[in-house]
Amino acid sequence: MSPDTEKQIEPHTSPSALVIGAGIAGLTAGWRLMQSGWHVRILESGIRPGGAMVTEREGEYLIEHGPNTALESDPRIGELIHELGLADEKRIPELASKKRFILKQGRPQPLPMSPQAFFGSGFFSWKAKLSLLGEPFRKPGIEDHEESLSEFVLRRLGREFLDYAINPFVAGVYAGAPDRLGVEQAFPKLHALEKNYGSLIRGQVLGARQRKREGRVSKQRAPMFSFRQGLGSLPERFQELLGDSLVLQTRAKKLSLEEGLWAIETECQGQPKNFEADRVIYAGTAHQLPEISIEGVSSSELQSFGNIYHPPVSSLSLAFPRNRVEHPLDGFGLLVPEVEKRKILGALFMSTLFPERCPKDQVLFTVFIGGTRQPHYASLSREELLPMVLEELKPMLGISSEPTHVFHRFWEKAIPQYDVGYGSVRNRLNDLEASHPGLHFCGNYRGGISVADTILHALKLTDLLLDHKD
Ligand SMILES: Cc1cc2nc3c(=O)[nH]c(=O)nc-3n(C[C@H](O)[C@H](O)[C@H](O)COP(=O)(O)OP(=O)(O)OC[C@H]3O[C@@H](n4cnc5c(N)ncnc54)[C@H](O)[C@@H]3O)c2cc1C
Repeated sequence: MSPDTEKQIEPHTSPSALVIGAGIAGLTAGWRLMQSGWHVRILESGIRPGGAMVTEREGEYLIEHGPNTALESDPRIGELIHELGLADEKRIPELASKKRFILKQGRPQPLPMSPQAFFGSGFFSWKAKLSLLGEPFRKPGIEDHEESLSEFVLRRLGREFLDYAINPFVAGVYAGAPDRLGVEQAFPKLHALEKNYGSLIRGQVLGARQRKREGRVSKQRAPMFSFRQGLGSLPERFQELLGDSLVLQTRAKKLSLEEGLWAIETECQGQPKNFEADRVIYAGTAHQLPEISIEGVSSSELQSFGNIYHPPVSSLSLAFPRNRVEHPLDGFGLLVPEVEKRKILGALFMSTLFPERCPKDQVLFTVFIGGTRQPHYASLSREELLPMVLEELKPMLGISSEPTHVFHRFWEKAIPQYDVGYGSVRNRLNDLEASHPGLHFCGNYRGGISVADTILHALKLTDLLLDHKD
């Protein structure tokens, strides 16, 4: 072992793991293994942990540049928060935020969220309402044809649902477009409803009964949360607890297997530094995977992960005097369907969700621009974006002043798109793991893109490792 090699294990003692990437996936996996007695190092190329989770606090403003809220879709997420000592810091968005607005004919209109509201409100036409009644009787899709989300929704629910519910929804979640996303890959539960019950409506009803019997909640009903100091509290708390096990400004560059141990070459603040471990978990982003060389894996194979589409997104947070905004902002936010031909994807009403995030006499929005729909707008400078966004937002919400504060963040590669054919990415990852014992992949490019899914995916991986530690 060369002098600059940090050996991760004492012979014949605890197992060891080296985690590449300190986003929420890497932090969760590393922490869980450390708690179980493993020797762990988590390497992060950046100057802070958290990856996409970026909270900025400036004076009375608290801005989320990445994820705004997460879902407690599984009890293990609550347990993790408790274990980290963050339970008292947890904040649930205000009740008003249950309402969601969709821009329709230039006006924000509440999206009907229950069957009664669906039939009672004028949001959808009678044609769309009648068409929904026929959904349980529609035929399943053609076997062996992998459908995009839009093909699936058009077939089962019709054009109006696609345009005014699904299209804005996927812009809000994936910054994506339903023509590209594969229904089975990006929305496996939706796909499974048709497969298992022959109908989405029947599946919803029967699935709800089953969940009730088993005491589970659906993702739509899972509580949403953040923390008093924003989601950034999660990586910050991990950092406190991990101590020296978290190594910042250290980029993994080369992985090779030597006599049953993984050797990891890194660059640590400009200097080479080597590590060794029994297991390596790659929890970096998919688009950065080709930057690492892995023994026995061709560069073209690694490049295929770099080709996964991650559209660019800009997030622009804007504060305005409350008395200069006509709209009551009594909801989660406003999503903009593509058919409305606007230049923003949507806006979250942050001061409704979490009133303490700006001064009381102000309101705070976070606006998203770009995504698969309009990637060219995302990369505009703040000076170019601001007038464009204000021109859209002001008439939509009746805003009659300039913003008092503006915060901008550009994500060049925001979120991996689980497009049609994404199954081959998952298969290649499975193959790589099978052919490279001790090498594992975990993160938002594999088990779902949300914070909750990413945490759960990391926990599943660690369960597997802890079961097979010998
Ligand atoms: C703008 C935006 C808004 C979002 N909103 C929401 C939301 O409201 N709710 C929600 O649930 N989800 C949301 N998401 C998605 C969610 O935040 C991410 O999918 C999730 O946080 C990704 O976590 P991760 O650990 O997989 O990856 P990342 O957070 O991307 O972390 C990967 C880390 O690996 C590091 N790394 C990469 N390569 C190396 C290397 N070779 N050596 C060392 N380190 C390396 C990177 O620097 C990075 O820190 C949003 C995402 C974005 C971008």
